[in-house]
This record gives sequence, structure tokens and C-alpha cells, in this order.
Amino acid sequence: MRKPLLLTLLLLLIALFFIFDLGDWFTLESLKQQQTQIAALRAEFPWLMASGFFVLYVLMAALSLPGAAIMTLAAGAFFGVWQGLLLVSFASSIGATLAFLVSRFLLRDQVQLRFGDRLKAINKGVSQDGAFYLFTLRLVPVFPFFIINLLMGLTALPARTFYWVSQLGMLPGTLVYVNAGTQLAAINSLSGILSPALLASFALLGLFPLLARAGLRLVQRRRVYSGYNKPRHFDRNLIVIGAGAAGLVSSYIAAAVKAKVTLIEADKMGGDCLNTGCVPSKALIRSAKLAQQMRHAEQFGLTSTQPAFSFKQVMSRVQAIIRKIEPHDSVERYTRLGVEVLQGYGKLVDPWTVEITSATGTVQRLTARSIIIAAGASAAVPPIPGLDDVDYLTSDTLWDTMADRDTPPRRLLVMGGGPIGCELAQTFARLGSEVILLQRNAHLMPKEDPEVGDWVKSALTADGVRVLTGHSPLRVEQGPHGPRVIATHQDREVILECDDLLLALGRKARLQGYGLEALGIPTDRTVTTNDYLETLYPNIYAAGDVAGPYQFTHTAAHMAWYASVNALFGHLKRFAVDYSVVPWCTFVDPEVARVGLSEQEAKAQDIAYEVTRFALDELDRAITDGADQGFIKVLTVPGKDRILGVTIVGEHAGDLLAEYVLAMKHGLGLNKILGTIHVYPTLAEANKYVAGEWKRAHAPERVLNWLGRYHQWRLGKE
Ligand SMILES: Cc1cc2nc3c(=O)[nH]c(=O)nc-3n(C[C@H](O)[C@H](O)[C@H](O)COP(=O)(O)OP(=O)(O)OC[C@H]3O[C@@H](n4cnc5c(N)ncnc54)[C@H](O)[C@@H]3O)c2cc1C
Repeated sequence: MRKPLLLTLLLLLIALFFIFDLGDWFTLESLKQQQTQIAALRAEFPWLMASGFFVLYVLMAALSLPGAAIMTLAAGAFFGVWQGLLLVSFASSIGATLAFLVSRFLLRDQVQLRFGDRLKAINKGVSQDGAFYLFTLRLVPVFPFFIINLLMGLTALPARTFYWVSQLGMLPGTLVYVNAGTQLAAINSLSGILSPALLASFALLGLFPLLARAGLRLVQRRRVYSGYNKPRHFDRNLIVIGAGAAGLVSSYIAAAVKAKVTLIEADKMGGDCLNTGCVPSKALIRSAKLAQQMRHAEQFGLTSTQPAFSFKQVMSRVQAIIRKIEPHDSVERYTRLGVEVLQGYGKLVDPWTVEITSATGTVQRLTARSIIIAAGASAAVPPIPGLDDVDYLTSDTLWDTMADRDTPPRRLLVMGGGPIGCELAQTFARLGSEVILLQRNAHLMPKEDPEVGDWVKSALTADGVRVLTGHSPLRVEQGPHGPRVIATHQDREVILECDDLLLALGRKARLQGYGLEALGIPTDRTVTTNDYLETLYPNIYAAGDVAGPYQFTHTAAHMAWYASVNALFGHLKRFAVDYSVVPWCTFVDPEVARVGLSEQEAKAQDIAYEVTRFALDELDRAITDGADQGFIKVLTVPGKDRILGVTIVGEHAGDLLAEYVLAMKHGLGLNKILGTIHVYPTLAEANKYVAGEWKRAHAPERVLNWLGRYHQWRLGKE
């Protein structure tokens, strides 16, 4: 109720101003005519006139009324340069801040709601650089004063910053106008005050902060590089350290644009994804799924059977699949593409030099204008007491350690209920292991909505996994047959025995041993970069798991584009990495896929949303396939056809998600999905049905009622 009241009051005041033609008082002619009378009054009541003038100025500025320039001239004419400057400087800044606050109070929520995450980048820019840009705008008095006030109110700039930056930035312009006011009689037009020469000097003044910033960047660069001798010539345009997804894509792009590029890999080409991550895990998941389908074959009208298999064979299939994909990432392929591949350990020696030590111990040094760090991540091993005294596995070691085993672990304890832990727990349970999944959080996959975690918990439980959520590992001991984990749950100690312990407690960026420390490149949990993926040294970039914030193969490849293009062409144009639409999928069964906001994220960020759902048990193809578990949940802006986020739980959720990723990336709404033909019977039809649900919920009831009457009338009955 307060908003409408304030709005009415403001509109009333503005209307009165125009109804009574008060604007006529704030013209150059009127000011000149009244100059002697006002000067006399001012001589008689100096304080009253000064405070009256101040209040009037604040009001005019707060209501965004025209006349600020005339008032500023008047200040010079009646109060002289210094008193006039003092009055106007404070009155205009206070008035501007009031206008800013009014705009924020009345409009900001609606604007943020309407344009939601499209404003994210602007908000981020304002929080980083808002004061700087406001200062630049204020310095140049040709930008309309009231528009700056109102627009800035819509951003996240703090009011205090707005006030002091405005006061400081407007000072030179105010001085020029107040000073001109002292010569009021000689002024014939407002535009005359700002002569072309004066305008040019203001424009230069406005450019000054930009130039100063560029200069500062140059100085900072020089300081960063001081103490190093920049080579006069370089051996390579680009050196890439690490041949995982990020490194491969970076070097591929560089070679494609004919740059001289060297890719250095210390271990296996293809990195984590090919050798110990996505590929082996998905290959094992497939075998496990078949085993599960055999066990439940009666659901498809066949005879259920207990799958008999050699685990060694299953694991050798995993290796065979790696070998099948290996050529895509091989030295030979990349050499053919124009990349020089060196097998060895790369170490930064200075900002342009990398030392490469091969497996045989030979050392060579290469210089490059730019370097991309794509060193990836390794399994995190938290300091749990006793862990060092037992044998444990991680996703890095699991594949080699288990390659020669005839049977899967009898009792496996998986520590960590994130995506990797859930995928592997379900897989081993399906392969016949007795699996305990230990999770500290109250839900599995806590980055997803709790209902998704619960869904995964029941899927895993149905497959025989003993899911222990809300259990914190306390210590690890050696038991009679393998590690023993002692955890706490609701203040009680729980003792868990297993034959094999698998840690799935996250992935830790590789930050040590290759020169980051010596060069003083800042790191936190990952290598610190700016939006252009530049590290402290603007010619050294980082991409993929080593830089975060996401740890996926597709985000590594996405970042690689930005890193390599900025590394090779950044001196001409730099591109800020775009994380606005990032999808991912966890390959448990049923799969869990997401893009954009989840409900818990929308709540945490105070973003208004509507939910539309479609249950897969209503989808023909899901029913025929015996895959009718799961749902699609779409978050949209209330009353608007704009997708904020999508979560899918179901068979092939990762593939189904692609339609929404495309829609969100290109600003398409659910109406467009509804208007697109989907093949019958496919799982993809679910996307159309959820769009239909949304449409039904937004049906124009009044129009439909009229249509009903129209049809009734067309029946020709009374
Ligand atoms: C079990 C598991 C399953 C996963 N499943 C999926 C999935 O389904 N989908 C998905 O998108 N992601 C998945 N991931 C994540 C994915 O594997 C990673 O996000 C991706 O591999 C990151 O690529 P990267 O290039 O940043 O790093 P990496 O692939 O780790 O590559 C880094 C490379 O750099 C090399 N290196 C490091 N330091 C040096 C040095 N000094 N000199 C030379 N070489 C060096 C390393 O040897 C390594 O080969 C999974 C991960 C795991 C562990």
C-alpha cells in the first residue's frame, strides 16, 4: 500500500508543477527579469533565502523536474561562486539520491523480477564497477541528470556510494554552471554556457577515468611482470598444460586458427574424463543396468535371471571402451590437427616460459606469448582420522585397482552422496556388491532440490543400496576384513564394516608442483581468474576443473573456447566467459538433469517463480519402455513465458534436457516448445506435454468463457 501512496503523491506534485506552469519560473528569461528583486531579498534575508533555495533545489531534483541548470545558474547569480557551489553541490546530490531511492523503491523489484537473470551480468558489473561508471557519467554534464538518477536506482548500487560518487563527479560541471551564473546578464542561452571547447574538455574529463583505468591496468601489468625479462621472440603462440577436455579443446582451437601451439600432458591423453571419469563410469553403468534388467526381466515378459558374469570381463569391457574412444584424444590425431604434443610434465618457469620434463628425464624449455593452465582436478581426500592407515579407493584409482579382480567388492562403503558417489554406489549394487552409501547431508545430491535427492535415495534403496544420510564420518580404522568407518548420526556412533572403501568426496583442483606458487599466481580452491579466464598474469589463462566453478567435461570445453580465443586474440577483443545457461546430468537410474535454477536456488536468491510439472507415468513411450518413473519440473517467471530452470528426473533425462538448454540459450519459451512437432511416441514428447500443462494453467479464462457463450449461440438453441 505504501508504494501506490508514494506514487500518487509524486504524480500529484509533478502534475501541480505542470498545471500551474511553474516551469515558466525556471527559464533564463524569468531568471533575468527577477534578478534584481531576488538579489534584494537575498541581501535582506540571506539565511532564509539560502535555505529556501536549498530545499527548492532538493525538491526539483528529487521529483526529476526540469530546471536544474537554471537553478544552478541562479545559485551563481545570487550567492556567488563558492556559496553557490556549496549549496548546489549538496542540494543536487541529496535530490539525486532521493530520486534514486524513489526509483529503487517503486520500480526495482518489478524490473528485477521481470528481467531476472538477464540482469545478473549488469548487477555483477554494477557491484564491481558501478561507482566507476557513475563517476564517468557524472563528470560529463551532457548526460541528463535525472535519467542517471532513475536508472541507477534500478541497479544494485548502494545508495551511499551513489551519493558520494555523484557529489564528487558533478563538482566540475556544477562549478562551470555556478560560475557562469555570476555573469547571468551576459548569458543568452543555456547551450551557450557549454561552448564547444568546454564540452570537449568535459568529454575529455569523462574519458579521464577510463584512460586512468587503462593506465592503471598497464601499470599493474608492468608491476606483475617486473623482475621478469619478457622474451623478444617466442617459440610458440600458445602453450597448453594438460590434455584433458579443457587442454584438448584449447589446443584444437589454436591449431584451427593456425597458431603455433604446444600441448603438454604428463599422464594419459584425454585426462580425467576419458581415463578415470565420465567414460569408464558410464561404461560400467551400462553393464550394471543390463545386470539389473536381467534380474527384473519379468517386467518385460521374460524370465528373470540372476546375471552370471566375470567382473574382470566387465572391467576389461570398460578398458576396451576407453581404447575405442582414445583415438579421438590421441597424440596422433592432435598432431594431424596441427598441435605439437609433448608428453612430459610442464612447469611454469616465468610468465612466458614452460619447462617440460619428459618421462625419460630430458628437459626442454619453450617460450610462448600465452599459456593456458588446464591441469584439471584429482579426487579430494579430506583429513579424516585414520584414513591414511587403511587402503581406500577413489575414482582416480578404482579402475586400475579393480581391473584384475574376478568379483566386485563383496561389501563396498561409498563415502559421499554427490553425483559420483551416487552413480558408483548404484552401479556396484547392481553388480552384486552390498553397498553402503554414507552421506553427511540430510539429502543425496544436495545441489539439487531435496525432492530430487529423495527420489535418488529411493531409486538407490530399491537397488539394494543402504543409504545413510545425515551420517558424518568420524574416523576410520582397520577392521578384520577391510576398513571400518565410524560415523556419527544424531549424536550416536555408528560402526560400518566393509571390504572396500571408496571416497567420493569431491574433486580438488591441481594447484601444486607446476609453478603457480613460485609465480605467486593466486589460488583459492581453484586458480583465481577474472571473467576472461586470465590469472594474475594476463597472458596466463586457466580453464576446466583447475579453474572451476563447474567441474564437467562440457564446461571445461566451453571455458577452453574463451581461454584460447582470449589468449590468441585478447589484445584485439576479449570475451567474458558466459555461464548463463549451464546444463548437467547425473547418470543414476533414473537420470537427473538440470539447467538453470532449481527451486531451492530460486528461493535462496529471492527470485519469484512458478512451477509446472509433468509426471512421466503419463507418457506413452515411458510406459511402453517400462521407464515411467520421474518427472519434468519447469520453473518460469510468474505470468510470463520465460524459463528460469528445468529439472528432469527420468530415463534419458540428459538428452531430454537439450531442448530446454537451446530454449533458454536463445530466449525461447514454453509456447515455442508447444508449437513444435515432436515425434510420437518418444520420451521427448514429455517436453511438449509440460509446455501444454503450463499453457493450460495460463489459459485466458475470460476469453474462454466468451468463446463458450459464442459456441452456445452457434448451436442455435434458446
Ligand atoms: C567418476 C567421474 C565421473 C564423471 N562423469 C562426468 C560426466 O558424466 N559428465 C561430465 O561432464 N563430467 C564428468 N566428470 C568430470 C569430468 O571428468 C571433468 O570435469 C573433466 O575431465 C575436466 O577436464 P579438465 O580438462 O579440466 O581436466 P582433466 O581431465 O583432469 O585433465 C587435466 C590433465 O592435465 C594433466 N596435467 C596436470 N598437471 C600437469 C602438468 N603440470 N604437466 C602436464 N600435464 C599435467 C593431467 O595429467 C590431466 O591429464 C566425471 C568425473 C569423475 C571423476
